[in-house]
Amino acid sequence: MMQLSKEQFKKDFERKLISLFAEDVKEASRSHKFIALAELVKEYAFERWLKTNKKYSTEDKKQVYYFSMEFLIGRLLENNLINLGIIDIVKEGLEEFGISFEDIKLEEKDAGLGNGGLGRLAACFLDSMATLGIAGHGNGIRYKYGLFEQKIVNGYQVEVPDNWLKDGYVWEVRRRDKACIVNFGGNVRFTVEDGRLKAIHENYESVLAVPYDIPIIGFKNGVVNTLRLWSAEPIGEDFDFFSFSMGDYSKAMEYKYSVESITSVLYPDDRTEKGRLLRLKQEYFFVSAGIQSIIRTFKKKGKPITELDKYVAIQINDTHPALAIPELLRILIDEENLSWEEAFKITVNTISYTNHTIMAEALEKWPIDMFKSLLPRIFTIVEEINRRFCLDLIDKYGHDLDKINKMAIIRDGYINMAHLAIVGSHSVNGVAKLHTKILKEKELKLFNEYFEGKFNNKTNGITHRRWLLQANPRLTKLLKETIGEEWIKDPNKLIELKKFAKDSSVKEKFYKIKQQNKTDLAKFIKNKYDITVDPNSIFDIQAKRLHGYKRQLLNALYILDLYNRLKEDKGIDIYPRTFIFSAKAFPGYILAKEIIKFINTLANKINSDDDVNDKIKVVFIENYGVSLAEKIIPSANVSQQISTASKEASGTGNMKFMMNGAITLGTLDGANIEIKDAVGEENIIIFGLTADEVINYSKNGGYRSLDLYNNNPRIKRVIDQLLNGFLDVSPSEFMNIYNHLITYNDEFFVLKDFEDYSKAQDKIDKLYRDRDKWNEMAIINVAASGQFSSDNTIIRYAREIWKVL
Ligand SMILES: *Cc1c(COP(=O)(O)O)cnc(C)c1O
Repeated sequence: MMQLSKEQFKKDFERKLISLFAEDVKEASRSHKFIALAELVKEYAFERWLKTNKKYSTEDKKQVYYFSMEFLIGRLLENNLINLGIIDIVKEGLEEFGISFEDIKLEEKDAGLGNGGLGRLAACFLDSMATLGIAGHGNGIRYKYGLFEQKIVNGYQVEVPDNWLKDGYVWEVRRRDKACIVNFGGNVRFTVEDGRLKAIHENYESVLAVPYDIPIIGFKNGVVNTLRLWSAEPIGEDFDFFSFSMGDYSKAMEYKYSVESITSVLYPDDRTEKGRLLRLKQEYFFVSAGIQSIIRTFKKKGKPITELDKYVAIQINDTHPALAIPELLRILIDEENLSWEEAFKITVNTISYTNHTIMAEALEKWPIDMFKSLLPRIFTIVEEINRRFCLDLIDKYGHDLDKINKMAIIRDGYINMAHLAIVGSHSVNGVAKLHTKILKEKELKLFNEYFEGKFNNKTNGITHRRWLLQANPRLTKLLKETIGEEWIKDPNKLIELKKFAKDSSVKEKFYKIKQQNKTDLAKFIKNKYDITVDPNSIFDIQAKRLHGYKRQLLNALYILDLYNRLKEDKGIDIYPRTFIFSAKAFPGYILAKEIIKFINTLANKINSDDDVNDKIKVVFIENYGVSLAEKIIPSANVSQQISTASKEASGTGNMKFMMNGAITLGTLDGANIEIKDAVGEENIIIFGLTADEVINYSKNGGYRSLDLYNNNPRIKRVIDQLLNGFLDVSPSEFMNIYNHLITYNDEFFVLKDFEDYSKAQDKIDKLYRDRDKWNEMAIINVAASGQFSSDNTIIRYAREIWKVL
């Protein structure tokens, strides 16, 4: 742990301001204060970074590499100060200068290098690996533009580019000397050399991959790991490059742009696969650079390449980095001259794969033609993996062609990346118990039968350092007063809070904290949208990506129905409620965008109707991201986790909310089930179809949403109101929603679960009135949340997959 006195810090801070900007504390702008503080943190952390790197390069410890297309790390300043153990000293020191830390931390832009859950998981894992002292590093892409910024204009989502690097990024270190070359296109021919078939890849175009390293600081343990993000640049000095192409400046620029475009923008899609060429380029680019860099580091240790799997573990986050498999094979075979058999064994032992989805439209498939022309050598390797795998299948199953066809990596003109990832790795994990069960028993049943023991579960987790210590300092303080500080190192100790669930003074303190957090959010909403929300109302929150299966529409239709009932009978007794939404939609997802417009239309109507205003309010907070989540989640009473059962692989938002004392209103889906098991049935509100029921309906039919429309007057009324002018929009405004629910038979069972959801909401209403009971439930949720710390998740990866603990 770092030793730093307040006086030393104040001196250092003044010195930094002078050395960077020739300013004193009085003169410096907020932005300069932020930069000076961040530079100081770097000064404090970089010595440890050097030490950690030295240690890793000299000792024989296995290195873990987490390959992910996305790292949604958010802001780092406060996180770094917490993990260095100097947050209080720094806050106090700044205070004495008359500077508010809360104010200057806002200067940092969120690194929005991810869409949602998958990218945030990668960020939580980095934090936990560093804290547990695991030599675990991230490998990803330095997108010039992160996920778009969302603005709501007239109720519609408008996307604005997120130019997060515009003013530079203080935490990164460019390492030009560690650049790699990645080759695209060209052709492959085979020759025989020393009696061995040798592949020659030629006529390719080369791209320079330049790493930018970000330090990942462990919690009070002196460890600093690395997140390495790759940026694409043209090869050659700019001078040569221009003189060479003197005659055709614009063509030369075209080349430069086409190279740089590889890492210019994050695909704003967290689910469906579009099979775009640029995406495939991105995938190969960061995977190839990452593998080359790993091999280079490994070789410096002087160990034979055949021992690579003893010293390196690579986890691939979904199939986006699955090209790590053929790329590692390529290097082992073409550059290290290993035999196929040896190379394949090493590759499989090195790589493990995390599956994140079972939705068919999200499973990555690449057309052979595109793949082959962009990555000709890699294609021949994938073909060979497939050929040998199919021969093994024939060995085992004879000529059951149907089975072999179902399992093949290459089929019907496409390369199936999930199949490649399963065949080329030694571990395949799902991300929650239910999800893994569905993988093993349904979606990937054939693979589970063939590769006995390869499939396993690793339920997702969240770092309690960001999602509790950082996001909720008030609750952190109460925890320290009641159960001490051990839980910070060992989150399982949070369970000790359970003892206080019936302690009325703790309950009252807990309630006050929640009220303060709600008041903060209410102020934020007032400032931003001029909407007055009452901190005494129930804060009922659904914050996550907008998607059909996540069913924001169910929540919104319920609100419309509630509004109808209140208008009909002003006397009905409901506890005042504030419904809060926050969600970005994929820009091309028409239904999702229409749902945003629907929510905002509803919000306008309700918030301006004096008849219902003291009872319900609806707020859509734009631009959901990590920093906003840190603000919203600690203020929640109700956490809406209402996905169609079987569709949400795990969810991690659900964990963040429970950790901050919200009661989950959820379906039996993903990790909600494990949350229910942890808190007990009486401390969560469960409703709706089960996964088995959903799967059964989807497979065998038997559900007709039109029947519900015809037989349930409340449902009929809200559906009619979508189109009948009730909502002050053009009659066709919500046509896609209508068609989705009625014409196309409600794919996500929104109407099917409507009645049960409505009853669950009534339960919440009743429960909240019993303040004592509610606080007890909320405290039990916090106490049980330690189980979902990513420290626990990472310990399981480390022991069971990577074998490093
Ligand atoms: C945790 C998190 C998510 C994932 O939320 P789910 O509810 O699990 O979908 C998405 N976006 C951000 C910014 C998050 O912090």
